[in-house]
Amino acid sequence: MAAQRVVELDRVDKVYKAGDVEVHALREVSLTIDTGEYIAVMGPSGSGKTTLMNLLGCLDRPTSGTYCFEGGNVGHLSDNQLAKIRNQKIGFVFQTYNLLPRSTALSNVSLPLLYGGRRDPHRAAELLQEVGLGDRMDHRPTQLSGGEQQRVAIARALVNDPSLILADEPTGNLDSTSGEEILRMFRALHQKGQTIIMVTHNREVAEEAHRVVVFRDGRIVTDRKGGG
Ligand code: ADP
Ligand code: MG
Repeated sequence: MAAQRVVELDRVDKVYKAGDVEVHALREVSLTIDTGEYIAVMGPSGSGKTTLMNLLGCLDRPTSGTYCFEGGNVGHLSDNQLAKIRNQKIGFVFQTYNLLPRSTALSNVSLPLLYGGRRDPHRAAELLQEVGLGDRMDHRPTQLSGGEQQRVAIARALVNDPSLILADEPTGNLDSTSGEEILRMFRALHQKGQTIIMVTHNREVAEEAHRVVVFRDGRIVTDRKGGG
């Protein structure tokens, strides 16, 4: 079966303007990603990794160049259409979990279902079971450990069956044991065919990832396939 293309970036630049100062965060970035790839994005602080994730996740737009998501040029879409892709096609996992503090684990995971107009009350509960939190569904984030909060975030990211999971340093705030548990979950998702792009400083992750892309000063300096 021919691999399906999820992402195609063609000579993408991103320039941030803050007053008189321009920051060139991405320069001439071209990158294609096929279904089922597990990609580790690496590089020093300030090299453009989060900027890349924000563009891929339709949270922001390129300054120039084109971004095609599943074959469609997202540069031509309205804000509402972008939000729809973001909600229905992309799952985000952040370093700081970004859960709603006053909502239970179950409500946090259910939220993207509501935005998407879907009503499958069992789906969120099922995913919380799968990430091992079947007995914590009514807990709020403050009543959960960091690793547990990140598992809630992973369940939330999966609830709409996204085409792409974007994870920006998902283990950055975790102790090594919880971090390894989270990485095992990503590995299992990859084995089930999930497409994953993960920003990480962890060499072991990079080794097991299918492909490693390294940024420096807003440019891709290495794009190597191999490993897991
Ligand atoms: P990384 O995630 O690799 O640490 P970032 O993508 O966050 O790097 O940042 C790349 C560059 O863009 C840095 O120089 C950073 O200071 C700058 N930058 C990031 N976000 C903004 C913003 N919203 N406004 C202005 N500059 C920004
Ligand atoms: Mg970053």
